Amino acid sequence: MTYDVTIVGAGHNGLVAACYLAKSGLKTLVLEAREVVGGGAVTEELHPGFRCSTLDHAVGPISSQVVADLNLARHGLEMITPEARVLALAPDGRALCIYDDVGRTVSEIEKFSANDAKSYPEFVNSFSRIGRVLAPLLGMTPPSIDQPTKTDLWHLGKVGLAFRGLGKRDEYRLLRWAPMAVADLVGEWFETELLRATVAARGIHGAFAGPWSAGTSLGLLWQAAMDGSAIGSASYPKGGMGGLTQALANAAKAAGAEIRTSARVSQISGAYSDKPKVVLDGGEEIETRVVISNADPRTTFLNLVDPIDLEPNFLLKMRNYRAPGVVAKINLALDGLLSFRGVDDHKKLFGRIHIGPEIDYLERAFDASKYGEFSSDPYLDINIPSLGDPSLAPEGRHVMSVHVQYAPYKLKSGDWATRSEEFANNVFDKLETYAPGIRDLIVGAHVITPLDLEQEFGLSGGHIHHGEQTLDQFFTFRPLIGWAQYRTPLKRLYLCGAGTHPGGGLTGLSGANAAREIARDFKAGKV
Ligand SMILES: Cc1cc2nc3c(=O)[nH]c(=O)nc-3n(C[C@H](O)[C@H](O)[C@H](O)COP(=O)(O)OP(=O)(O)OC[C@H]3O[C@@H](n4cnc5c(N)ncnc54)[C@H](O)[C@@H]3O)c2cc1C
Repeated sequence: MTYDVTIVGAGHNGLVAACYLAKSGLKTLVLEAREVVGGGAVTEELHPGFRCSTLDHAVGPISSQVVADLNLARHGLEMITPEARVLALAPDGRALCIYDDVGRTVSEIEKFSANDAKSYPEFVNSFSRIGRVLAPLLGMTPPSIDQPTKTDLWHLGKVGLAFRGLGKRDEYRLLRWAPMAVADLVGEWFETELLRATVAARGIHGAFAGPWSAGTSLGLLWQAAMDGSAIGSASYPKGGMGGLTQALANAAKAAGAEIRTSARVSQISGAYSDKPKVVLDGGEEIETRVVISNADPRTTFLNLVDPIDLEPNFLLKMRNYRAPGVVAKINLALDGLLSFRGVDDHKKLFGRIHIGPEIDYLERAFDASKYGEFSSDPYLDINIPSLGDPSLAPEGRHVMSVHVQYAPYKLKSGDWATRSEEFANNVFDKLETYAPGIRDLIVGAHVITPLDLEQEFGLSGGHIHHGEQTLDQFFTFRPLIGWAQYRTPLKRLYLCGAGTHPGGGLTGLSGANAAREIARDFKAGKV
């Protein structure tokens, strides 16, 4: 049987692309290496009776357009949005909670600094205004640099007009902020270290960069484009992250797509010709009119495609595409609810919990990974999803998801196989200082190192975003300049994953944008 479209990988972007393409009438097959669909967005049993989002713990946010187009609520998606976005903890037992509600946040900040409380509303409003101008870029195919089409120019013109509408002060801010180190940006707005570090965290999340690295403010601008706020979102689906991808899989199947799990692709061949083929581990060959890779760019071009099919120049650029992972994940099954020092109201724990109280703390944590060592004082981004969704753990018990940064993919001394226990103990020690007694509550733990991210989840270099999201790997440069429109040098091979614009995070937009371009090529008879 020949398929119109075969998608390698059932991450959320692969599933989004499958939904749109199957809906447009194309015979669509999705092949997923793991036994579950979802990629970064999966819920799995971590200990008998305890289920946790294995990797991601808060949704990007997912594009509202994608949710509406694919009718995800009808297919089972139910979102939980805590009032608190992030609770930041300080070592002296003080805590600062940032809510969606600006007034409530100002009252919290007032306990630390009257000046910061005064600055905060304008900080929020400015990012919200700028975010509205940038938002249309997310759902846009980046323009061709060499031969921009009329549509490219039209879209860019609209963004240009919106930019002019911002007014001089925000225009200047936007141009100035993008290349800035996030530590400088937050230093201009706030004097409280805890607030500075908590806001700056969005700029370094998942990045091989510290707050003093140039260009890290881009993460805040991109977050504002995605959901109007510079601070990371905290909402998650009922049933954990798998709730999102199960809804997408249901929508894809309802649209006619076929999904196969435990189907690892070992080779994409002949994609330069009219007869591409996908070969599975075990040798099965699948004929298809086009192949779409949801795997990251390095995996796609350096592992799945025969190098003979690619120009040496392209291969060289792809080898230089940077994807140095710095994140590990620890999921815990807890025998009861832990208590954090200085936190009296448990509702504050429903969003993200941030440990990384100062800019210098975050920079030092990055320093360690720069020199091939995991940080003894890591930046932790924590979520306790069972607080909002009791279905995840037995009554009175909890699951806790801990994103640990910085943990470099390549260790200078030893390796992950021999050092993961030491790494986990180091994280438990850090948690113990903020939540005394946590060790006694742990009944199960799942430690996922950057090497596991590569070997088990297919993420090259263990990079959580399929490659660094720096200015040189962004928008028209993602993954490479000249190849940012989801097409590749191989006529019948496309990309649809987070290594394409608009990049990492559970937005569904890489999948949606890619599907639009691919459907267009089918309609024009190009494939
Ligand atoms: C530890 C961690 C924490 C994160 N936290 C968050 C978060 O809280 N919020 C957020 O928005 N984002 C988070 N991210 C980022 C988010 O997971 C990614 O941006 C997102 O998953 C990208 O989606 P995708 O569909 O493009 O790719 P992926 O989710 O990576 O899916 C790619 C799929 O392709 C499959 N695949 C790869 N190779 C093959 C092959 N040869 N054959 C068949 N299948 C293959 C993989 O198994 C996988 O299922 C996190 C990522 C990690 C790793």
